[in-house]
Amino acid sequence: MRSFDDDLAPLHEASLYRSLRTIDSPQAPVVQINGQEVLNFSSNDYLGFANAEPIRNAFKHGIDLYGTGSGSSRLVCGTLAPHASLERTLAKFKNTEAALTFSSGYAAAMGCIPALCGPGDFIILDKLSHACLIDSAKLSGATLRVFPHNHMEKLEHLLKWARAKGKTTSRILVITESIFSMDGDWADLWNIVQLKDQYGALLLLDEAHAFGIHGPGGRGLAAKLGLASRMDIQMGTFSKAVGLSGGYLCGTRSLIDLLINRARSFIYSTAPSPSLAHTIEEVIRHWLPTAYGEDRRARLWSNLAYLHTALKDRIEEPASAIIPLIIGSESEALRLSAQLLTAGILIPAIRYPTVSKGKARLRIAITALHSEGFINALSRELQGCAL
Ligand SMILES: *Cc1c(COP(=O)(O)O)cnc(C)c1O
Repeated sequence: MRSFDDDLAPLHEASLYRSLRTIDSPQAPVVQINGQEVLNFSSNDYLGFANAEPIRNAFKHGIDLYGTGSGSSRLVCGTLAPHASLERTLAKFKNTEAALTFSSGYAAAMGCIPALCGPGDFIILDKLSHACLIDSAKLSGATLRVFPHNHMEKLEHLLKWARAKGKTTSRILVITESIFSMDGDWADLWNIVQLKDQYGALLLLDEAHAFGIHGPGGRGLAAKLGLASRMDIQMGTFSKAVGLSGGYLCGTRSLIDLLINRARSFIYSTAPSPSLAHTIEEVIRHWLPTAYGEDRRARLWSNLAYLHTALKDRIEEPASAIIPLIIGSESEALRLSAQLLTAGILIPAIRYPTVSKGKARLRIAITALHSEGFINALSRELQGCAL
């Protein structure tokens, strides 16, 4: 029988081996690694909420009100008042009939997609969709097809094909992210909505990197484009701009009722801490859509504009807080990442299978709390690298 090390050897050879790096300080633009201060350009804490004073206090207050643990899964005795209240608040915020929360965005996808589709159904995904969407689609047992990133002719072709092949009861589910996690660009949402309606398909939109950043009050890209009411299933996470953790799904009452009955990652997993649910609700009520959140979003966008000015010849105008520098070779991306870390800048190399082979990159993430001085330091170091 082969050993575990036998499995690891080819990863080392292909520059695809991964290991954990410990951060010894709270999530922030400057973090401690091995007693050294480094500038962090890799965090999804886009608004700097992960260690913000009012949100820390809300979390502490949540513990005083509801304790730390939830005791069981949601359907047994783990639905505490803050879970129910968060879901009402979120549905109202997203302007949908209902909402359901999960322990993570990954769990939301794994629960939702197999609950909605199975053998005899069709799932059509954008090629660059997040691993949790692909894994869930595979798990569902539905027939799976992928269209090249934002390729509308191919999407239409697949919709037409699925319509012809499926029964009248077959469900066709189109899945895309709104802001793509490793490229930072937008889905061609106008055309996707048009096509899914034309062919009688459903659309699941993953707003993981848009929630909190785009749209009025941070409601997401669909809301920004005036398309929110055309979405069938809206998914997102509290782990990025919200600065906490957890996943959500929003849609009609019957969608959410179906998920409560069928989503296995919801049914068979202990409810998230009630103090966490309380804190997420506080953020959605008091910090994300208010002047506090608006100020953070304004600082984020001005930082992005500042970085673009500094690196005009290297990057396109940012469409989100994610700026990829495509390197190509996995070993070269690792080398550059190590060189940057020596210079005090943390940008891990993103490699296969997170992105395609030969498309390794440095994924820069900007937050509201980066200063112009930090961004100057970043652009100085990047100019010095042979990119
Ligand atoms: C991060 C991410 C998820 C998973 O969310 P978690 O809450 O971190 O599990 C899902 N979809 C996309 C596009 C993501 O980037």
